[in-house]
Amino acid sequence: MSYYKTALRRTNNELVDLAMAYRNKCEINVQYTETGIILNIDRITFIISDKYPFQPPDAIINEEAYSKWLTPPSRQIRDRFTVYGIHDIGCYCCHSKLGRRGWSPGCKIMDVLGEINIVRKSKRQIRYIRLLESIFKERPGINESIIMKTMEYLLI
Ligand SMILES: [Zn+2]
Repeated sequence: MSYYKTALRRTNNELVDLAMAYRNKCEINVQYTETGIILNIDRITFIISDKYPFQPPDAIINEEAYSKWLTPPSRQIRDRFTVYGIHDIGCYCCHSKLGRRGWSPGCKIMDVLGEINIVRKSKRQIRYIRLLESIFKERPGINESIIMKTMEYLLI
């Protein structure tokens, strides 16, 4: 296994930090295989090749490729963000650490997990906007600030 010594050393260093950061949140599973290191954390699978960290890991989330999961919200939805004063993080894929321009050897799994949490929050906001607008639509007296307050409560 010496052929991926650098990847191994680097991953193991990161695992120490991840174990600290996630010790009360979720289990971390690691498998060392012939083709690389498979890391499961917070419902995400990272596949770390022997070219890591010079090549980004592959990630699988909700049983699909991470890049697919990053499909950006529609223009229409992003217009709703403006209405509700929600910070629009822009196109998910274009800002991704695992994207074409996002990765550098200094990036860590922890950074990708941070990105995932931001995108998860954005996706939750979208779900709540859809839900609340469908509930409150065409009800007199229900305005955007009420929807916004409800959403803040749901996102706590
Ligand atoms: Zn994009």
